[in-house]
Amino acid sequence: MNNRILVMTAVGKSELRDVQTKPLSEDEVLIKVEACGLCTWERYIYSGEEPAGFPFHGGHETAGTVVEMGDAVQGLTPGLPVAVVSWKRCNACVPCRRGFDNHCETMMGELPEGTLWGPAGFAQYLVVKRYEVFPLGDKVPVHFGILAEPLSCVVRSIKRSHIKPEEKAVVIGAGLMGLLFMKVLKHRGNRVVVVQRSEARRKLALSMGADLVVDPQQEGWENLVIDYTGGYGAEAIFYTAGGASMLNTCLHLAAIGGSILMYAPLYDDAAVLEADVIHFRELNVVGSIRHDKESAFEAVRLLGSGELDLQGLNLVFEDLERFEEGIERANEDRNIHRIMFRA
Ligand SMILES: [Zn+2]
Ligand SMILES: [Zn+2]
Repeated sequence: MNNRILVMTAVGKSELRDVQTKPLSEDEVLIKVEACGLCTWERYIYSGEEPAGFPFHGGHETAGTVVEMGDAVQGLTPGLPVAVVSWKRCNACVPCRRGFDNHCETMMGELPEGTLWGPAGFAQYLVVKRYEVFPLGDKVPVHFGILAEPLSCVVRSIKRSHIKPEEKAVVIGAGLMGLLFMKVLKHRGNRVVVVQRSEARRKLALSMGADLVVDPQQEGWENLVIDYTGGYGAEAIFYTAGGASMLNTCLHLAAIGGSILMYAPLYDDAAVLEADVIHFRELNVVGSIRHDKESAFEAVRLLGSGELDLQGLNLVFEDLERFEEGIERANEDRNIHRIMFRA
């Protein structure tokens, strides 16, 4: 079948190509892409901030409908709305077997000759393994499926923080990820403080249900957070942005025995953490990256339930032919809208 795809050919360069979809193996599914979210990762590859090989076929936040299945595929029917949570899993390497399939040693895989690398959602059609396909149900519009992958990362992080219902959380940053953290925590019965520099984003976080929003540019803002927790600090802090000094501040916002979940990397911004605070206050500093099979399942179940009110996220369709404009728009509004491409 003819498939129109968007390929990044170099930093700041892209082109549409017409290719043929490959014949399905018995465990594969052909998906018609209804929407594919533009994530920070792909924007950074395009701008050159994230080193990557070109040509690159991006698009890992994919929602679509089933077109056709390989002979061994069960549990799907043509026309079914689904989310695709992609990246390969072998189920046989040591990380996979230890429950860290998000670190699967074959994840990037050996590419067959002539194959473009990348998750390949910026396209009309996409061929994926059955295990990457999650039926969405009929309670949410199909394009909400683009949130399955980011939500899976959030669900995994929250689990690793060991925060209990009713406890207080602080989310640092109110980009898409920060807002998803806030929504899932609220759904679980947590009270959530969001720390965010931009006023527009603070307003958005508040309108979407944050209990308190705080501007970290304001003198003494840390005390507002501490006061909100009755002087004890929050049981979990979710760091999604802000740099090394913010990460250090997180240690001081946590309750005794609390967790600091490091979702975002610091890269070159070397962290000097006050290690003694970790000792004396018995803190857990824990990382989380990507999603695993379990968190993907839980995230799609939550998404499909329709119980998370995600209307405020402003998912905006853009034609795949207008890829450059979509990138520009996302760069301009610093992702306060989530651009979704469709061919
Ligand atoms: Zn993403
Ligand atoms: Zn593996």
